[in-house]
Amino acid sequence: MKCFINEFCNKCNQPYTNYQWCQQCNSKQFQQGFSKWTSKNKYIDKFIQEAQLNARNNYEVLEWIPYNKLTNINYYDKGGFSEIYKATWLDGPIYSWNFNKQQWNRWNFQTGYDVILKTLNNSSDINDKFLDEV
Ligand SMILES: [Zn+2]
Repeated sequence: MKCFINEFCNKCNQPYTNYQWCQQCNSKQFQQGFSKWTSKNKYIDKFIQEAQLNARNNYEVLEWIPYNKLTNINYYDKGGFSEIYKATWLDGPIYSWNFNKQQWNRWNFQTGYDVILKTLNNSSDINDKFLDEV
């Protein structure tokens, strides 16, 4: 049996579907944000949008990160078919919806969140790349 400190969503008053996570309300928030970002690739956009709509918790959220949200990009290693970089993601990943501020709460420790980047050589890497980055 699971126990949550905050059991009910501030918005719809339904029980959270996961820790601090209301899938129904968060899906709507993501949907409202669809017009605010694009990878300029329909396939990738659709892939990310579906992951956002179906996210049952914060670990399942995928996001498109614009290049200007990354800093300290440094070469790290060479993988089989791609190069690997370390970087700092200024915003950091989403962990819950902030009802009072009407924005996502994000892990960023004030200075950013360290991530690993892999370069893409062809489109068949797309799924692997995104799953690796989450
Ligand atoms: Zn809700």
